[in-house]
Amino acid sequence: MPLFEDTPEERAFRTALRKFIANEMTPYREEWEKNRAVPREVWKKLGKQGFLCAWLPEEYGGSGVDFRYSVILGQELIRGDAMGIGAPNHQDVATHYVYSYASDELKKRLLPKCASGDAIGCICMTEPNAGSDAAAIRSKAVRKGDHYILNGQKVFITNGMFADFMVVMCRVESSDVDPKKNYSLLCVEGESLKHVQRRQLEKMGRHATDTAEVFFDDCPVPAGNLLGKEGEGFKYTMHNLARERLELCIKSQSYAEECFKEALKYAKEREAFGKPIGNIEAVSFMLAEMATEVEIGDAFLHVCVEEFLKGDDITKKVSMAKAWIAEMANRVAYKAVQIHGGYGYMAEYRICRLYQDVRVMPIFGGTTEIMNVVIARQLGLKPIF
Ligand SMILES: Cc1cc2nc3c(=O)[nH]c(=O)nc-3n(C[C@H](O)[C@H](O)[C@H](O)COP(=O)(O)OP(=O)(O)OC[C@H]3O[C@@H](n4cnc5c(N)ncnc54)[C@H](O)[C@@H]3O)c2cc1C
Repeated sequence: MPLFEDTPEERAFRTALRKFIANEMTPYREEWEKNRAVPREVWKKLGKQGFLCAWLPEEYGGSGVDFRYSVILGQELIRGDAMGIGAPNHQDVATHYVYSYASDELKKRLLPKCASGDAIGCICMTEPNAGSDAAAIRSKAVRKGDHYILNGQKVFITNGMFADFMVVMCRVESSDVDPKKNYSLLCVEGESLKHVQRRQLEKMGRHATDTAEVFFDDCPVPAGNLLGKEGEGFKYTMHNLARERLELCIKSQSYAEECFKEALKYAKEREAFGKPIGNIEAVSFMLAEMATEVEIGDAFLHVCVEEFLKGDDITKKVSMAKAWIAEMANRVAYKAVQIHGGYGYMAEYRICRLYQDVRVMPIFGGTTEIMNVVIARQLGLKPIF
Protein backbone atom coordinates (compact mmCIF):
# COMPACT_ATOMS: atom_id res chain seq x y z
CA MET A 1 0.00 0.00 0.00
CA PRO A 2 2.24 2.82 -1.17
CA LEU A 3 1.66 6.26 0.31
CA PHE A 4 2.92 7.88 -2.86
CA GLU A 5 3.74 6.92 -6.37
CA ASP A 6 7.50 7.09 -5.97
CA THR A 7 9.41 9.18 -8.51
CA PRO A 8 12.28 7.30 -10.25
CA GLU A 9 14.74 8.83 -7.73
CA GLU A 10 12.56 7.85 -4.78
CA ARG A 11 12.11 4.37 -6.21
CA ALA A 12 15.89 3.99 -6.48
CA PHE A 13 16.31 5.19 -2.88
CA ARG A 14 13.59 2.79 -1.66
CA THR A 15 15.02 -0.18 -3.59
CA ALA A 16 18.56 0.41 -2.36
CA LEU A 17 17.37 0.96 1.22
CA ARG A 18 15.19 -2.17 1.16
CA LYS A 19 18.16 -4.21 -0.05
CA PHE A 20 20.40 -2.71 2.62
CA ILE A 21 17.89 -3.47 5.37
CA ALA A 22 17.34 -7.05 4.12
CA ASN A 23 21.09 -7.75 4.10
CA GLU A 24 22.43 -5.66 6.97
CA MET A 25 19.60 -5.33 9.46
CA THR A 26 16.74 -7.86 9.32
CA PRO A 27 18.99 -10.91 9.93
CA TYR A 28 20.37 -9.34 13.14
CA ARG A 29 17.09 -8.27 14.70
CA GLU A 30 17.04 -10.98 17.36
CA GLU A 31 20.65 -10.36 18.37
CA TRP A 32 20.04 -6.60 18.67
CA GLU A 33 16.88 -7.16 20.68
CA LYS A 34 18.83 -9.38 23.11
CA ASN A 35 21.59 -6.77 23.40
CA ARG A 36 19.07 -3.93 23.70
CA ALA A 37 21.11 -1.99 21.14
CA VAL A 38 21.85 -1.59 17.45
CA PRO A 39 25.64 -1.53 16.83
CA ARG A 40 27.18 1.78 15.91
CA GLU A 41 28.61 0.25 12.76
CA VAL A 42 25.10 -0.07 11.38
CA TRP A 43 24.45 3.65 11.85
CA LYS A 44 27.70 4.37 10.01
CA LYS A 45 26.83 2.01 7.16
CA LEU A 46 23.39 3.62 6.82
CA GLY A 47 25.09 7.01 6.75
CA LYS A 48 27.71 5.96 4.22
CA GLN A 49 24.98 4.82 1.83
CA GLY A 50 23.24 8.20 2.11
CA PHE A 51 20.15 6.88 3.91
CA LEU A 52 20.53 9.06 7.04
CA CYS A 53 19.42 12.70 7.11
CA ALA A 54 18.98 12.69 3.34
CA TRP A 55 16.98 15.91 3.74
CA LEU A 56 20.04 17.86 4.95
CA PRO A 57 21.56 20.21 2.36
CA GLU A 58 24.60 18.83 0.56
CA GLU A 59 26.94 21.23 2.39
CA TYR A 60 26.10 19.32 5.59
CA GLY A 61 26.41 15.86 4.09
CA GLY A 62 22.79 15.27 2.99
CA SER A 63 21.21 15.12 -0.45
CA GLY A 64 18.85 18.08 -0.06
CA VAL A 65 15.74 15.97 -0.67
CA ASP A 66 12.29 16.51 0.85
CA PHE A 67 10.31 14.83 3.63
CA ARG A 68 9.15 12.00 1.32
CA TYR A 69 12.53 10.36 1.88
CA SER A 70 11.89 10.35 5.63
CA VAL A 71 8.56 8.67 4.87
CA ILE A 72 10.39 6.00 2.86
CA LEU A 73 12.92 5.43 5.65
CA GLY A 74 10.19 4.99 8.29
CA GLN A 75 8.16 2.63 6.08
CA GLU A 76 11.08 0.45 5.06
CA LEU A 77 12.51 0.11 8.58
CA ILE A 78 9.19 -1.27 9.82
CA ARG A 79 8.68 -3.49 6.77
CA GLY A 80 12.16 -4.93 7.30
CA ASP A 81 11.71 -5.42 11.07
CA ALA A 82 14.49 -2.91 11.64
CA MET A 83 12.75 -0.15 13.60
CA GLY A 84 15.07 -1.02 16.47
CA ILE A 85 17.34 1.68 15.14
CA GLY A 86 16.15 5.06 16.38
CA ALA A 87 17.04 6.67 13.06
CA PRO A 88 13.79 8.63 12.50
CA ASN A 89 14.07 10.15 15.98
CA HIS A 90 17.72 10.98 15.31
CA GLN A 91 17.22 12.53 11.87
CA ASP A 92 13.76 14.09 11.91
CA VAL A 93 13.73 15.29 15.50
CA ALA A 94 17.16 15.77 17.15
CA THR A 95 19.12 16.65 14.00
CA HIS A 96 16.31 18.85 12.76
CA TYR A 97 16.55 21.03 15.89
CA VAL A 98 20.30 21.45 15.37
CA TYR A 99 19.78 22.30 11.72
CA SER A 100 17.02 24.79 12.48
CA TYR A 101 18.43 26.58 15.53
CA ALA A 102 22.15 25.89 16.14
CA SER A 103 24.93 28.40 15.50
CA ASP A 104 26.80 28.10 12.20
CA GLU A 105 29.82 26.77 14.06
CA LEU A 106 27.84 23.97 15.75
CA LYS A 107 26.02 23.14 12.52
CA LYS A 108 29.27 22.82 10.57
CA ARG A 109 30.78 20.65 13.28
CA LEU A 110 27.83 18.39 14.05
CA LEU A 111 25.56 18.03 11.02
CA PRO A 112 27.97 16.16 8.70
CA LYS A 113 28.40 13.61 11.52
CA CYS A 114 24.62 13.31 11.84
CA ALA A 115 24.44 12.41 8.15
CA SER A 116 27.39 10.00 8.25
CA GLY A 117 26.09 8.17 11.33
CA ASP A 118 29.13 9.20 13.39
CA ALA A 119 26.92 11.21 15.76
CA ILE A 120 23.63 9.86 17.11
CA GLY A 121 21.13 12.33 18.53
CA CYS A 122 18.29 12.25 21.00
CA ILE A 123 15.65 14.66 22.21
CA CYS A 124 15.23 15.12 25.97
CA MET A 125 11.87 16.65 26.89
CA THR A 126 10.11 14.27 29.25
CA GLU A 127 10.89 14.23 32.98
CA PRO A 128 9.60 11.93 35.72
CA ASN A 129 6.96 14.51 36.68
CA ALA A 130 6.51 16.23 33.33
CA GLY A 131 5.30 14.25 30.30
CA SER A 132 2.02 15.53 28.90
CA ASP A 133 2.42 18.55 31.14
CA ALA A 134 5.67 19.59 29.47
CA ALA A 135 5.65 23.03 31.11
CA ALA A 136 6.22 21.33 34.49
CA ILE A 137 9.83 20.45 33.66
CA ARG A 138 12.35 21.18 36.41
CA SER A 139 15.70 20.74 34.62
CA LYS A 140 17.50 24.00 35.11
CA ALA A 141 20.49 25.73 33.56
CA VAL A 142 22.26 28.65 35.19
CA ARG A 143 24.46 30.91 33.08
CA LYS A 144 28.02 31.19 34.47
CA GLY A 145 30.43 33.10 32.26
CA ASP A 146 30.60 31.46 28.86
CA HIS A 147 28.82 28.29 29.99
CA TYR A 148 25.44 27.12 31.23
CA ILE A 149 25.51 24.73 34.19
CA LEU A 150 22.76 22.19 33.64
CA ASN A 151 21.12 20.07 36.35
CA GLY A 152 18.14 17.80 35.94
CA GLN A 153 16.70 14.44 35.06
CA LYS A 154 15.01 13.21 31.88
CA VAL A 155 13.21 9.93 31.32
CA PHE A 156 12.14 7.58 28.46
CA ILE A 157 14.75 9.04 26.11
CA THR A 158 15.00 7.19 22.78
CA ASN A 159 18.68 6.76 21.74
CA GLY A 160 19.53 8.10 25.22
CA MET A 161 22.13 5.43 26.06
CA PHE A 162 24.35 6.02 23.05
CA ALA A 163 23.54 9.56 21.96
CA ASP A 164 26.51 11.77 21.06
CA PHE A 165 24.37 14.88 21.25
CA MET A 166 21.28 15.59 23.28
CA VAL A 167 18.77 18.33 22.58
CA VAL A 168 17.60 19.20 26.08
CA MET A 169 14.62 21.32 27.11
CA CYS A 170 15.33 23.16 30.37
CA ARG A 171 14.57 26.36 32.23
CA VAL A 172 17.29 28.99 32.19
CA GLU A 173 17.95 31.22 35.17
CA SER A 174 19.64 34.61 35.24
CA SER A 175 18.58 36.26 32.06
CA ASP A 176 16.29 39.08 31.02
CA VAL A 177 13.41 36.66 30.49
CA ASP A 178 10.98 35.78 33.31
CA PRO A 179 12.50 32.55 34.75
CA LYS A 180 9.02 30.98 34.89
CA LYS A 181 8.73 31.30 31.11
CA ASN A 182 12.36 30.81 30.24
CA TYR A 183 12.20 27.41 28.54
CA SER A 184 15.24 26.94 26.36
CA LEU A 185 16.94 24.25 24.30
CA LEU A 186 20.56 23.30 24.89
CA CYS A 187 22.62 20.96 22.74
CA VAL A 188 24.66 18.80 25.11
CA GLU A 189 27.62 17.13 23.32
CA GLY A 190 31.40 16.67 23.38
CA GLU A 191 33.09 17.19 26.74
CA SER A 192 29.75 18.02 28.39
CA LEU A 193 28.73 14.36 28.06
CA LYS A 194 31.22 13.48 30.82
CA HIS A 195 28.71 15.02 33.22
CA VAL A 196 25.79 12.94 31.98
CA GLN A 197 24.72 9.68 33.63
CA ARG A 198 22.51 7.24 31.74
CA ARG A 199 20.46 4.23 32.76
CA GLN A 200 18.93 1.77 30.30
CA LEU A 201 15.19 1.15 30.80
CA GLU A 202 13.48 -2.19 30.11
CA LYS A 203 10.35 -1.96 27.96
CA MET A 204 7.29 -3.95 26.83
CA GLY A 205 8.49 -3.99 23.21
CA ARG A 206 10.86 -2.28 20.75
CA HIS A 207 13.67 -4.05 22.55
CA ALA A 208 16.46 -3.15 20.14
CA THR A 209 15.87 0.56 20.65
CA ASP A 210 17.73 1.92 23.63
CA THR A 211 15.56 3.98 25.95
CA ALA A 212 17.24 5.74 28.84
CA GLU A 213 16.86 7.74 31.97
CA VAL A 214 19.35 10.60 31.76
CA PHE A 215 20.84 12.68 34.60
CA PHE A 216 22.66 15.99 34.20
CA ASP A 217 24.87 16.72 37.15
CA ASP A 218 26.45 20.19 37.17
CA CYS A 219 26.91 19.65 33.45
CA PRO A 220 28.76 22.58 31.79
CA VAL A 221 27.37 23.42 28.34
CA PRO A 222 29.10 26.09 26.23
CA ALA A 223 26.87 29.14 25.79
CA GLY A 224 27.29 28.70 22.03
CA ASN A 225 25.32 25.43 22.31
CA LEU A 226 22.11 27.28 23.14
CA LEU A 227 19.72 26.49 20.28
CA GLY A 228 18.16 29.70 19.05
CA LYS A 229 17.34 32.19 21.77
CA GLU A 230 16.70 31.86 25.48
CA GLY A 231 13.03 31.59 26.33
CA GLU A 232 12.01 30.40 22.86
CA GLY A 233 12.27 26.65 23.52
CA PHE A 234 8.55 25.90 23.37
CA LYS A 235 8.05 28.06 20.32
CA TYR A 236 10.67 25.94 18.52
CA THR A 237 9.04 22.68 19.59
CA MET A 238 5.72 23.98 18.22
CA HIS A 239 7.40 24.64 14.86
CA ASN A 240 8.83 21.11 14.74
CA LEU A 241 5.70 19.39 15.98
CA ALA A 242 4.11 18.73 12.61
CA ARG A 243 7.24 16.99 11.36
CA GLU A 244 7.63 14.94 14.55
CA ARG A 245 4.00 13.88 14.61
CA LEU A 246 4.04 12.97 10.92
CA GLU A 247 7.05 10.81 11.59
CA LEU A 248 5.02 8.97 14.27
CA CYS A 249 2.01 8.65 11.93
CA ILE A 250 4.23 6.96 9.34
CA LYS A 251 5.38 4.42 11.93
CA SER A 252 1.83 3.70 13.11
CA GLN A 253 0.52 3.34 9.57
CA SER A 254 3.38 1.01 8.62
CA TYR A 255 2.79 -1.12 11.72
CA ALA A 256 -0.91 -1.37 10.80
CA GLU A 257 -0.04 -2.44 7.26
CA GLU A 258 2.40 -5.10 8.46
CA CYS A 259 -0.08 -6.49 11.02
CA PHE A 260 -2.77 -6.68 8.37
CA LYS A 261 -0.45 -8.41 5.89
CA GLU A 262 0.54 -11.01 8.51
CA ALA A 263 -3.10 -11.67 9.43
CA LEU A 264 -4.27 -12.00 5.81
CA LYS A 265 -1.45 -14.40 4.95
CA TYR A 266 -2.12 -16.50 8.01
CA ALA A 267 -5.89 -16.57 7.40
CA LYS A 268 -5.31 -17.97 3.92
CA GLU A 269 -2.91 -20.66 5.14
CA ARG A 270 -4.37 -21.82 8.44
CA GLU A 271 -7.16 -24.36 8.20
CA ALA A 272 -9.91 -25.12 10.68
CA PHE A 273 -13.06 -27.17 10.13
CA GLY A 274 -11.63 -28.27 6.79
CA LYS A 275 -11.18 -24.85 5.22
CA PRO A 276 -8.89 -21.79 5.47
CA ILE A 277 -9.96 -19.70 8.46
CA GLY A 278 -10.11 -16.69 6.12
CA ASN A 279 -13.19 -18.29 4.55
CA ILE A 280 -15.02 -18.33 7.88
CA GLU A 281 -17.38 -15.39 7.79
CA ALA A 282 -16.40 -13.93 11.18
CA VAL A 283 -12.69 -13.98 10.30
CA SER A 284 -13.24 -12.62 6.78
CA PHE A 285 -15.27 -9.73 8.21
CA MET A 286 -12.51 -8.95 10.70
CA LEU A 287 -10.05 -8.81 7.80
CA ALA A 288 -12.43 -6.69 5.72
CA GLU A 289 -12.68 -4.15 8.56
CA MET A 290 -8.92 -4.17 9.08
CA ALA A 291 -8.30 -3.60 5.35
CA THR A 292 -10.74 -0.68 5.37
CA GLU A 293 -9.12 1.00 8.38
CA VAL A 294 -5.63 0.57 6.92
CA GLU A 295 -6.77 2.19 3.64
CA ILE A 296 -8.37 5.11 5.49
CA GLY A 297 -5.16 5.65 7.49
CA ASP A 298 -3.08 5.61 4.29
CA ALA A 299 -5.34 8.16 2.60
CA PHE A 300 -5.35 10.51 5.59
CA LEU A 301 -1.59 10.26 6.03
CA HIS A 302 -1.16 11.01 2.33
CA VAL A 303 -3.19 14.22 2.72
CA CYS A 304 -1.20 15.31 5.78
CA VAL A 305 2.18 14.72 4.10
CA GLU A 306 1.12 16.53 0.93
CA GLU A 307 -0.15 19.56 2.89
CA PHE A 308 3.00 19.56 5.04
CA LEU A 309 5.16 19.58 1.90
CA LYS A 310 3.15 22.54 0.58
CA GLY A 311 3.92 24.41 3.81
CA ASP A 312 0.33 24.45 5.11
CA ASP A 313 -0.44 24.62 8.84
CA ILE A 314 -1.42 21.01 9.59
CA THR A 315 -1.63 21.28 13.40
CA LYS A 316 -5.22 20.04 13.55
CA LYS A 317 -4.96 17.38 10.87
CA VAL A 318 -1.66 15.93 12.06
CA SER A 319 -3.00 15.71 15.64
CA MET A 320 -6.05 13.87 14.29
CA ALA A 321 -3.81 11.59 12.25
CA LYS A 322 -1.42 10.93 15.17
CA ALA A 323 -4.36 9.97 17.41
CA TRP A 324 -6.47 8.04 14.91
CA ILE A 325 -3.75 6.11 13.09
CA ALA A 326 -2.01 5.09 16.34
CA GLU A 327 -5.29 3.79 17.80
CA MET A 328 -6.22 2.16 14.49
CA ALA A 329 -2.84 0.39 14.33
CA ASN A 330 -3.52 -1.03 17.79
CA ARG A 331 -7.02 -2.20 16.77
CA VAL A 332 -5.55 -3.89 13.71
CA ALA A 333 -2.73 -5.45 15.75
CA TYR A 334 -5.23 -6.78 18.31
CA LYS A 335 -7.34 -8.43 15.63
CA ALA A 336 -4.28 -9.76 13.83
CA VAL A 337 -3.17 -11.56 17.02
CA GLN A 338 -6.72 -12.89 17.46
CA ILE A 339 -6.68 -14.32 13.92
CA HIS A 340 -3.40 -16.10 14.72
CA GLY A 341 -5.02 -17.82 17.72
CA GLY A 342 -2.47 -19.27 20.18
CA TYR A 343 0.35 -18.79 17.69
CA GLY A 344 -0.22 -15.06 17.90
CA TYR A 345 0.83 -15.18 21.53
CA MET A 346 4.12 -16.96 20.75
CA ALA A 347 7.23 -14.81 20.67
CA GLU A 348 8.57 -16.63 17.62
CA TYR A 349 5.70 -15.27 15.53
CA ARG A 350 6.22 -11.87 13.96
CA ILE A 351 2.73 -10.73 14.86
CA CYS A 352 3.49 -11.17 18.56
CA ARG A 353 6.40 -8.73 18.30
CA LEU A 354 4.48 -6.25 16.17
CA TYR A 355 1.70 -6.27 18.77
CA GLN A 356 4.17 -5.42 21.55
CA ASP A 357 5.94 -2.78 19.50
CA VAL A 358 2.84 -0.93 18.34
CA ARG A 359 1.45 -0.43 21.85
CA VAL A 360 3.58 2.63 22.46
CA MET A 361 2.30 4.52 19.43
CA PRO A 362 -0.70 6.16 21.20
CA ILE A 363 1.60 7.11 24.10
CA PHE A 364 4.78 8.74 22.91
CA GLY A 365 5.14 12.05 21.12
CA GLY A 366 1.89 13.20 22.75
CA THR A 367 -0.77 10.74 23.93
CA THR A 368 -4.09 10.24 22.15
CA GLU A 369 -5.77 12.23 24.92
CA ILE A 370 -3.37 15.14 24.46
CA MET A 371 -3.97 15.03 20.68
CA ASN A 372 -7.68 15.34 21.45
CA VAL A 373 -6.96 18.38 23.63
CA VAL A 374 -5.10 19.98 20.70
CA ILE A 375 -7.92 19.16 18.27
CA ALA A 376 -10.57 20.49 20.68
CA ARG A 377 -8.62 23.75 21.01
CA GLN A 378 -8.40 24.01 17.23
CA LEU A 379 -12.18 23.69 17.20
CA GLY A 380 -12.41 26.76 19.44
CA LEU A 381 -13.14 24.77 22.61
CA LYS A 382 -11.40 25.16 25.95
CA PRO A 383 -10.87 21.70 27.47
CA ILE A 384 -10.74 21.97 31.27
CA PHE A 385 -7.94 20.33 33.27
C1 LIG B 1 9.24 4.05 24.44
C2 LIG B 1 9.15 5.52 24.71
C3 LIG B 1 10.02 6.39 24.08
C4 LIG B 1 9.98 7.76 24.36
N1 LIG B 1 10.90 8.61 23.78
C5 LIG B 1 10.98 9.88 24.21
C6 LIG B 1 12.05 10.74 23.77
O1 LIG B 1 12.90 10.34 22.96
N2 LIG B 1 12.13 12.00 24.28
C7 LIG B 1 11.21 12.48 25.17
O2 LIG B 1 11.34 13.61 25.59
N3 LIG B 1 10.18 11.70 25.59
C8 LIG B 1 10.05 10.42 25.14
N4 LIG B 1 9.02 9.62 25.58
C9 LIG B 1 8.05 10.18 26.52
C10 LIG B 1 6.65 10.32 25.97
O3 LIG B 1 6.55 11.35 25.04
C11 LIG B 1 5.71 10.49 27.20
O4 LIG B 1 5.66 9.22 27.83
C12 LIG B 1 4.32 10.96 26.82
O5 LIG B 1 4.36 12.30 26.36
C13 LIG B 1 3.34 10.87 28.02
O6 LIG B 1 3.88 11.43 29.17
P1 LIG B 1 3.85 10.60 30.54
O7 LIG B 1 4.42 9.26 30.27
O8 LIG B 1 4.49 11.42 31.60
O9 LIG B 1 2.32 10.38 30.88
P2 LIG B 1 1.37 11.41 31.69
O10 LIG B 1 1.53 12.78 31.15
O11 LIG B 1 1.59 11.20 33.13
O12 LIG B 1 -0.07 10.87 31.29
C14 LIG B 1 -0.66 9.73 31.91
C15 LIG B 1 -2.07 9.58 31.36
O13 LIG B 1 -2.85 10.76 31.67
C16 LIG B 1 -3.39 11.32 30.49
N5 LIG B 1 -3.38 12.78 30.57
C17 LIG B 1 -2.43 13.59 31.06
N6 LIG B 1 -2.79 14.88 30.95
C18 LIG B 1 -3.99 14.89 30.35
C19 LIG B 1 -4.89 15.93 29.94
N7 LIG B 1 -4.62 17.21 30.12
N8 LIG B 1 -6.06 15.55 29.34
C20 LIG B 1 -6.36 14.25 29.14
N9 LIG B 1 -5.55 13.24 29.51
C21 LIG B 1 -4.38 13.54 30.10
C22 LIG B 1 -2.43 10.86 29.37
O14 LIG B 1 -3.05 10.89 28.10
C23 LIG B 1 -2.11 9.44 29.83
O15 LIG B 1 -3.13 8.56 29.46
C24 LIG B 1 9.01 8.26 25.26
C25 LIG B 1 8.10 7.38 25.86
C26 LIG B 1 8.16 6.03 25.61
C27 LIG B 1 7.19 5.11 26.30
